[in-house]
Amino acid sequence: MVNDPDIKALEEHERRRLLTLRQLNLLDTPPSESFDRITRIASELFNLPIAAVSLTDEDRQWFKSRVGVDHWEIPRFKACCGEVTDSSEVLILPDLLESPHYRDSPLAQSGIRFYAGAPLRTDDGYTLGAMCVLGSEPRTVSEHEVSILQDLAAMVMAQIELQHAFGRLDPLTGLPNGSKFIEDLDDRARDNAGAGCFALYIDLIDSVEMHSLQRVLGPACFDEVAREAAMRLQLHLGAGKALYQVGACQYLHILESAGQCQDECEALTLARHLRQVLASMPLGDAAPFMLHPVVGVSPFRLGDVAPTDVLRTAHSACQAARDGETGVSLYSSALDERHRRRFALINGFRHALEDVGQLQLVYQPRVSLASDDCVGAEALLRWQHPTLGAVSPVEFIPLIENTPMARPLTDWVLRHAIVQAADWHRRGLALRVSINISAANLEESDFSARLLGYLAEHGLPVSVIELELTESALIGNTRSVGDALDALVEAGIRIAIDDFGTGYSSLAYLQKVPADVVKIDRSFVAQIDHEPRSQTLIKAMISMARDLDYHVVAEGVESQQSYRMLQALGCDEAQGYWLARPLSVASFEDWLTERCEGASATH
Ligand code: C2E
Ligand code: MG
Ligand code: MG
Repeated sequence: MVNDPDIKALEEHERRRLLTLRQLNLLDTPPSESFDRITRIASELFNLPIAAVSLTDEDRQWFKSRVGVDHWEIPRFKACCGEVTDSSEVLILPDLLESPHYRDSPLAQSGIRFYAGAPLRTDDGYTLGAMCVLGSEPRTVSEHEVSILQDLAAMVMAQIELQHAFGRLDPLTGLPNGSKFIEDLDDRARDNAGAGCFALYIDLIDSVEMHSLQRVLGPACFDEVAREAAMRLQLHLGAGKALYQVGACQYLHILESAGQCQDECEALTLARHLRQVLASMPLGDAAPFMLHPVVGVSPFRLGDVAPTDVLRTAHSACQAARDGETGVSLYSSALDERHRRRFALINGFRHALEDVGQLQLVYQPRVSLASDDCVGAEALLRWQHPTLGAVSPVEFIPLIENTPMARPLTDWVLRHAIVQAADWHRRGLALRVSINISAANLEESDFSARLLGYLAEHGLPVSVIELELTESALIGNTRSVGDALDALVEAGIRIAIDDFGTGYSSLAYLQKVPADVVKIDRSFVAQIDHEPRSQTLIKAMISMARDLDYHVVAEGVESQQSYRMLQALGCDEAQGYWLARPLSVASFEDWLTERCEGASATH
């Protein structure tokens, strides 16, 4: 009698068997000559009219290949191949009519008398179905014939495994590839959910270096090294230890905590060994390059994370090892989070440029220290990301500046700031709008033409705007930067050196840069009301800038005392929180009205 635990075990086995069968992607696929060839040989060797490769699905026998049968499937109920699957044994039925079980089966009723089937068994012990031969007359089989049938079943299985491996092995190194890793990890998670593991991502050579060498030496120049590295790693890890080829000269090894490795320390020790194994690999005198292997280690729990995330985090750790020149690095979620955020920002900015409402310009007043009047405003970009919320320009501008989006970013700012400046100009407000631009913009050959075009479109004189550039952008001594600056100056556009004092220790460049305005960085201004050294510095900066005929603006004025001191030192303009924070257009106009009313009340 079968008791409950046995039934449960059988059910579990059947569940896994079906999963294996489905993962092999054989069911309901078109016929294939490689299977049909085996079926034909079976029919001929046994001199029988019917032969089939029959797979046992949940409630049917489906024929991957068949000779002498018209239909593709029969019900599993009372199908002889189903019994082969259940028992995983060869089944010989010399005469179905003699068998109490099969006598009334649909097979017997269709005129079949003889059946012989050998199990199609996978390496991990699941029987997928049977290689079978059938006849309409009773028949016996010799032992020799049984072994032939088993050989044919083994040939079918070899064919199935070959097909399955196709696309899962790296043709160069013969190692299983990333797709196989994903499948294997899913399997492991099913068998061993919750087990602690470490993914070791091994990268043989820096990808940038690799690409530039491939350009010179040809794309196959690393083939031999990749093969040798795979061999050495596999030998070091031992046969049967999973090693995957996950990229060109990139390998992945999974360590399970149980048995192999107890903790992080051990995983890192193995990582260092593997790195050493590769670093000491002889390259031969002919190889005109050096290897710089690095290993990233990422801990995870089976089933808790998707295999693709394991790949990503291990790769992130590997990248950190490369960037930090440490050789081996443990995954850091903070670092990964930073990378992901950077990626999300760069990716999201394109939408921001197209979506209405994500980007906005705010305006921070600039006040003349001689008259206390507001004489202008700096346009500052704001980004409200749909999921990340408000993102500071200090974070996103440097990222975008290094991408091809630097141009559309500045274009967006120019167009919106000029529309606003034109509105104020029409309404008789004497405000100069200053716009921040990036070094990359000066490399655009049509930059000044575009800017002048926008101004002309709105009938604005060039004196209504000013461009702010940091020292480093202005110093970029390429010809195109110089030409772009000259074109702007020639057109009469005012150029301001932003964040003055933070970039270069040498001031010699001031002679060469065609700027009109110097904006002293707020780090100098912030302390002047309580720090004598800052006062001395500011005093020197202002007097030098004025001697050189620069218009001087102090940024970051946060107190009345600072404002008064700057006035006394002869600074031309001030900008800072004490006067006003960057404001939306409506708030800016309210602020301006209040200030004018205040001023007229005091007069
Ligand atoms: P920046 O051009 O030097 O702009 C001045 C920054 O100082 C602004 O920060 C402003 O809000 C802040 N600030 C002004 N007064 C005070 C003060 O009294 N105290 C303090 N602590 N800070 C003050 P914001 O708006 O975060 O912009 C930061 C930087 O981002 C800007 O520095 C500029 O380099 C860049 N940026 C902003 N908008 C644009 C843009 O449209 N294009 C480009 N290329 N860069 C931009
Ligand atoms: Mg600025
Ligand atoms: Mg600044």
